[in-house]
Amino acid sequence: MSDLILFWHRRDLRITDNIGLAKSRQMTPKVIGVFCLDLNILERDDIAPARVTYMIGCLQELQRSYQQAGSQLLILKGQPAQAIPQLADSLQAKAVVWNWDVEPYAQQRDTKVKEALQEKGIQTHHFWDQLLHNPDEIKTKSSNSPYTVYTPFWKQWIQLPKAEPHAKLEKAEALTETEQEQAKKADAIDLPTAKDLGFIWQNDLLLEPGEQAALDQLKEFCSKGIYNYGEQRNFPGTDGTSKLSAALKFGAIGIRTVWDAVMEASYDSRSDETQKNIQTWQHELAWREFYQHAMYHFPNLAEGPYRSEWQDFPWENNQEHFQAWCEGKTGYPIVDAAMRQLNEIGWMHNRCRMIVASFLTKDLIINWQWGETYFLQKLYDGDLSANNGGWQWSASSGMDPKPLRIFNPASQAQKFDPEGDYIREWVPELSSVDTEYLISGKIPPDERGDYPAPIVDHQQRQREFKQRYQQQKG
Ligand SMILES: Cc1cc2nc3c(=O)[nH]c(=O)nc-3n(C[C@H](O)[C@H](O)[C@H](O)COP(=O)(O)OP(=O)(O)OC[C@H]3O[C@@H](n4cnc5c(N)ncnc54)[C@H](O)[C@@H]3O)c2cc1C
Repeated sequence: MSDLILFWHRRDLRITDNIGLAKSRQMTPKVIGVFCLDLNILERDDIAPARVTYMIGCLQELQRSYQQAGSQLLILKGQPAQAIPQLADSLQAKAVVWNWDVEPYAQQRDTKVKEALQEKGIQTHHFWDQLLHNPDEIKTKSSNSPYTVYTPFWKQWIQLPKAEPHAKLEKAEALTETEQEQAKKADAIDLPTAKDLGFIWQNDLLLEPGEQAALDQLKEFCSKGIYNYGEQRNFPGTDGTSKLSAALKFGAIGIRTVWDAVMEASYDSRSDETQKNIQTWQHELAWREFYQHAMYHFPNLAEGPYRSEWQDFPWENNQEHFQAWCEGKTGYPIVDAAMRQLNEIGWMHNRCRMIVASFLTKDLIINWQWGETYFLQKLYDGDLSANNGGWQWSASSGMDPKPLRIFNPASQAQKFDPEGDYIREWVPELSSVDTEYLISGKIPPDERGDYPAPIVDHQQRQREFKQRYQQQKG
């Protein structure tokens, strides 16, 4: 057996502040990276071309980073439970190391890979990396169980000390020529493009893929945007949020590095007001962890509602309404602007994610899981835990102590897009309509042109939803 360690990347596509990779490097200089294009994931029907494009961009950069560090990143394609052990075996690796993930599929996959490696006598080592606090670190004091309500989770989360970033991979060793041949025989391939994999995305991505772009974006946000985040983050027509979601989803940036930058911004901030804004952003990072903990402890969330009475909710599930929602043709300008933003750039502002999710479930009375899947088919930051958490919150089926929330699209637009800038940007056929009409959604028929009339009446539908809700509660 050689001294070689294979480090299996999954959602940690970086060489800096990567716990499993840093630990591997402490064990040996001969650390070889590997990424498996997992067909169980790529062949699902909820994979967004924009997301695959971002991921492949991250892998291209990761290959360069490995080379600069003296080593290399190998690419496999297939079933990880077969491909990873086969490669490890042919390279006579001493160990395969990876960072844990919270998702139910990832856990089942990892168990299979681990068993297959153990059968071959190859060690495995695993670490928690993608969260500031792993799912077993935060439990209720009274019964040592996972939190199902955010506020007490946050109180414990914010008080716990946070780890420092880990060292960058450096001075590593590459494969010998013979080993390279062996890797090829074990099906190591050149990195394909997203198009080679059947995913076509022609628009720009909100954030360039890769570790460097994520680090630059973090720096930029923590030197400016974070100081006004609390005030700006709700206005979809404003550039008021970090845009780091895809980088955090794929681990193009380490969460400890992010925390370090937030703390630096906090030391540099002088007023209570800016401190409050910074804390609002910290809350978002905590929401990300809350939903990942929830997915880890309650894997059934991936399959359906958290609240059991929601299991057989009498959804209307009108196909035509769903289609209109997907295409941004509901006749509600703020909803349509948001859906078109999603379809065009693979990202949607958080305020609008809440508005369109409320509209789908409370106005169209369509099962939130249809929306959950559609989001994953489009979002470049699509993430099972955050998306599922957001949808269950919006649908009133999740871990929310005040579950019955209904957003009025007109009041949302009046409050958060008061000049109609966002609507005009994404629904250009309404660009010359008066702001008052745009944000109230009451556009006179002779000013509407080809833009559709509202497909449902909000007031009537919310009454109907409430009736169904009360009946379901019993
Ligand atoms: C219905 C619905 C679906 C969503 N689907 C996803 C998804 O698939 N992937 C995703 O990353 N986020 C999702 N979110 C959360 C949120 O909308 C995005 O994280 C945010 O819009 C990304 O933009 P940003 O990076 O500029 O966020 P910022 O406002 O700058 O927030 C910083 C980071 O905190 C995390 N975060 C922020 N808000 C939330 C939240 N509510 N829940 C969990 N994490 C959060 C993200 O990692 C984000 O990058 C969803 C929200 C809703 C209501």
